Amino acid sequence: MNIPLATITLTQREHAYVSEALAANWISGTGYFVPRFERALSERLERTHVIATANGTLALELALRALGIGVGDEVIVPAFTFVAPAAVVRAVGATPVLVDVCASDWTLDAIAVEQAITLRTRAVIAVDVIGHSCDYDALVALCQRRGLYLIEDAAEAHGASYAGKPCGSFGHVSTFSFHANKAITTGEGGCVTTDDDVLAARMHRIANHGMTPGRWYYHDVIGSNYRMTNLTAAIGLAQVERWDELIGARTQIGLWYDKHCPAGVLPCPTQCNPACPSVWLYTVVTNRRDHVLTVLQQAGIDARPTFEALPDLPPYRHYSGFPNARFAARCGLMLPTWAGMTEALVIDICAVLQQATIVSVVDGEEVPCLM
Ligand SMILES: *Cc1c(COP(=O)(O)O)cnc(C)c1O
Repeated sequence: MNIPLATITLTQREHAYVSEALAANWISGTGYFVPRFERALSERLERTHVIATANGTLALELALRALGIGVGDEVIVPAFTFVAPAAVVRAVGATPVLVDVCASDWTLDAIAVEQAITLRTRAVIAVDVIGHSCDYDALVALCQRRGLYLIEDAAEAHGASYAGKPCGSFGHVSTFSFHANKAITTGEGGCVTTDDDVLAARMHRIANHGMTPGRWYYHDVIGSNYRMTNLTAAIGLAQVERWDELIGARTQIGLWYDKHCPAGVLPCPTQCNPACPSVWLYTVVTNRRDHVLTVLQQAGIDARPTFEALPDLPPYRHYSGFPNARFAARCGLMLPTWAGMTEALVIDICAVLQQATIVSVVDGEEVPCLM
């Protein structure tokens, strides 16, 4: 077998829009597919403003800069996440303060967040990890009560929702990535979303070299270039127009995995109310994860371990604590998931998974993840 972790499906629609942009000679960040892409997203996400960016990491950095977060400030970041939210806090000169995640869904534990707040805390970055929304009833109320900005990183949660509202609509600023392994993709790309007019204008300006709109080469704030190209936005518009098809395909793949996954392999993060997760990379928890991963890899199935817990990475090192983040990092396994996978392929993957887990029970000796 040769089954990738993720791949993309491009249709005539993406090709047509990109050809149109090329034919019109509009390939930079100033081109009409950018606002069309932003408008389509803002409707989809029920947000007033969407600003497209070069990638999801820079979207987070733009949010922090526009909120004026920098040296001397602390930003709360979950201990279990892809590294970008912690790295951008460092990039603007602030300090990431790690907080453990919930055992049930691997998202920020609101009680632990409250305990980590100090006089220097300015913001909380809530990551909708592996398609599962955070507890926004708790986090929105907490941030309001304590005067903190809530930044939502929805990079892994296209199509997920919480209490009927889409992920990407909960933060003062929310961000997305459209990297090729995300559910909606432009290859490289990202965006920020907000309902705050003033903040949107600030982000727009910083993303465009800090230039005063309508006044050439007059830069009244320090900015940079965070822009997405028109070619990228052309792909993005097509992908957003295919949103229901692309998200629906992953939902179906998740149901097939639910049905065919062997006993002793548990899906995680699990479904719960009022969060309504979407499927990004179908993720399970298994005993002897590294062994199972090796067996899958040897069979040509490109499964991956879940993210390392941030406290186990040198720049963010903490020697104790964070049991739930460390559990998610030690026991989680991300399985191939992409629109276009067939049920037969899922069955093949689950058969190898079953073989791998049988062996792991026979000669299992390390600390079990599951009883
Ligand atoms: C993928 C991802 C990012 C980074 O997005 P890029 O577009 O690759 O820069 C940020 N945060 C999370 C949670 C992600 O999964």
